[in-house]
Amino acid sequence: MNCLFCVILEGKVKAHFVYEDKSHVAILDRYPIQLGHTLVMPRDHHEKITDMNTENVSTLFSKVPVIARAILKVTKADGFNIGQNNGKAANQIIPHVHVHIIPRYSNTGPGWTKRMISNEEDLENLAAKIRKCVQSVQ
Ligand SMILES: [Zn+2]
Repeated sequence: MNCLFCVILEGKVKAHFVYEDKSHVAILDRYPIQLGHTLVMPRDHHEKITDMNTENVSTLFSKVPVIARAILKVTKADGFNIGQNNGKAANQIIPHVHVHIIPRYSNTGPGWTKRMISNEEDLENLAAKIRKCVQSVQ
């Protein structure tokens, strides 16, 4: 199976983790729409949300506000969007269920900006701050 997120979860490709527990992780998006753009996912591989049972979907979404709270605190974002894409037609790029948390800033307006290219150091510094903050709200 050629799934980038499974490869990341096996530790074979580096990612910037902001949250980890026994069943779920959250990582910073490498090409963020906005600063702090994070992906929350189950460790188990499912391609689409419709491949999961309701209990697993509930658990996945229960992580979202906990992680979003920490992202908002660290980035000082004014709001956030939650996105969850299923299938290529819906712009799902990695075929492993994930929930986007996309911080939004009043000064950039409500339109979608182009994805940014981040440098590794900035991503790691941000991830470390969010990681610390998530742990403190649990
Ligand atoms: Zn996978």
